[in-house]
Amino acid sequence: MKVWIEQDACTGDGLCVEKSPAMFQLVENISHVRHMGSTMLLGTAMAEIPDVHFDDVLDAAEDCPGECIFIEE
Ligand code: SF4
Repeated sequence: MKVWIEQDACTGDGLCVEKSPAMFQLVENISHVRHMGSTMLLGTAMAEIPDVHFDDVLDAAEDCPGECIFIEE
């Protein structure tokens, strides 16, 4: 499974980073997905979700105030 963020809708509240700091990172109040420990800067960049982080990413997507975290096959 992969995750990406529609950054135009991100509110910058940081809830996703609180839930999964391994998979999300705020840069100038916009959340970015993380992959292999690096920040991915493109708005629609997709990051593979390691199994160990899936529940936290799903939790973040469900509670995201901007409804802008998307999980795909
Ligand atoms: S939870 Fe959603 S709106 Fe909030 S910072 Fe993360 S991606 Fe942006």
